[in-house]
Amino acid sequence: MPLPLAPKGPLDKMSFSDLGLSQKVLDAVTATGYTEPTPIQAQAIPEILARRDVLGIAQTGTGKTAAFTLPMMTLLEQGRARARMPRTLILEPTRELAAQVEESFNKYSVGQRLDVALLIGGVSFGDQDIKITRGVDVLIATPGRLLDHFERGKLLLTGIEILVIDEADRMLDMGFIPDIERICKLVPFTRQTLFFSATMPPEIQRLTETFLHNPVRIEVARQSTTASTITQRLVASHGQASAKRETLRRLIRDAEELKNGIIFCNRKSDVHIVYKSLSKHGFNVAALHGDMDQRSRMAALEAFRNGTTQLLVASDVAARGLDIPEVSHVFNYDAPHHAEDYVHRIGRTGRAGRKGTAYTIVSDSDAKVLGAIELLIKSKIEFDGPDLANLPPDEGERRTERGRGRERGERGERSSRARREPRRAREPENVAETDDQPDEHVARETPRAEWPERQERTERAPREERRERPRRDERRPRDRDDDGPTPKGLGEHVPSFMLRSVKLPPKSPEPEEAETAHETED
Ligand code: ADP
Ligand code: MG
Repeated sequence: MPLPLAPKGPLDKMSFSDLGLSQKVLDAVTATGYTEPTPIQAQAIPEILARRDVLGIAQTGTGKTAAFTLPMMTLLEQGRARARMPRTLILEPTRELAAQVEESFNKYSVGQRLDVALLIGGVSFGDQDIKITRGVDVLIATPGRLLDHFERGKLLLTGIEILVIDEADRMLDMGFIPDIERICKLVPFTRQTLFFSATMPPEIQRLTETFLHNPVRIEVARQSTTASTITQRLVASHGQASAKRETLRRLIRDAEELKNGIIFCNRKSDVHIVYKSLSKHGFNVAALHGDMDQRSRMAALEAFRNGTTQLLVASDVAARGLDIPEVSHVFNYDAPHHAEDYVHRIGRTGRAGRKGTAYTIVSDSDAKVLGAIELLIKSKIEFDGPDLANLPPDEGERRTERGRGRERGERGERSSRARREPRRAREPENVAETDDQPDEHVARETPRAEWPERQERTERAPREERRERPRRDERRPRDRDDDGPTPKGLGEHVPSFMLRSVKLPPKSPEPEEAETAHETED
């Protein structure tokens, strides 16, 4: 059944006071300095206030957070929270996003008595329990942590009046859909559901058909479009890691009007390597990846936000949807494996009509994914400098080898034929996803009930304690022969306690990355 479309009219004259928000909320909006609502806000707020289910599709940076928090605050002015029974629930895929939504609640709810609790991993259960027991109006949570609290019996979901599922496509990427389905069944059937996503892959479409009741569909920009204010360029590079890093350094150094930039890598191991390499070369840089503890992530993000660090090396998981205003440049160290990630990445720049530049380093092995990206954004991206076919021989690598004897070891082991071939074999596609797991990740292919430790457990341990599981092996196609040498010893059947994460000192390479880690010495 086709969904009803929200009326589309000229929205440029719209003001916040036309939307039906309460005076208190309007005052808070004025205090934040917003002068007019963004299109998604203008269209979603009246519908939410009218108690409709909303399906909001809008690219990152379009103001989706205020589109649901502002009307929620207006609606919450009626009624009071009861012990253990939160009135509204907002689900976010990552801790950072959850923390950010909490921040915006605090910002917009000045002058109101709203109790907000944040349920995310890496924070003690005790404090969170105390808040919940007292009663909260707004609960902001990542799906895993929420279910942990629920299963501990400290939380009742039967009082939920509004359920918000934010960044739904990222939830999908992170394997949270089964958790979301479960949560949707735990909250009252009569609740209002607000669902936001930047893209609408079929799995998300199905989810909305199951859990939204007669929603208003609000789509403010064509799916998977990129802002027209962003200058997008491809930069051809040889595929070797050292050549790519050199290309990256050149791009950063030559970038015009570089205020700040995010460098995206597909693998969290590369985030680490590129970060180390750039620091070594004197760049003002921080890293953001899924293995960092909550405090260091927030610190890195804050330093980047306030301009203390100019560059942030990040993985998709770590950076998705983060509220980082005014990024002037995005550098894709790797072309993303999923075309939709390209849209999200470059959506970090060119926000709110500002100019932005996005460079994507491509090598021979990226032809296929590049095709998918160009198909998705419905335009060709031009090369800055020579394209792949006209890329001069690998001067960079030869120079590096001449100058740096210590790099020869690794390269010497590769045959000249291997050297000409892209490194795909050593970096299989599926490693990217498995390598950079979210904090409370659930392997998508493996229903939780099948995990042995889950059945054995009598007393539930906090989810973080059982976060690390052999996902890499679970998710890797077993018949592939390009994943490296035949496993020795336990092979794929490694007991889970041996796979538990070990805290490493910040600068040392991750164990499985030891092989490539020495490349940072360039
Ligand atoms: P999304 O969730 O769609 O990616 P956010 O809600 O994080 O976007 O908002 C992106 C940025 O836009 C934030 O910095 C936010 O403060 C800002 N913003 C939101 N609404 C407005 C508005 N009406 N006017 C100006 N800036 C806004
Ligand atoms: Mg958002």
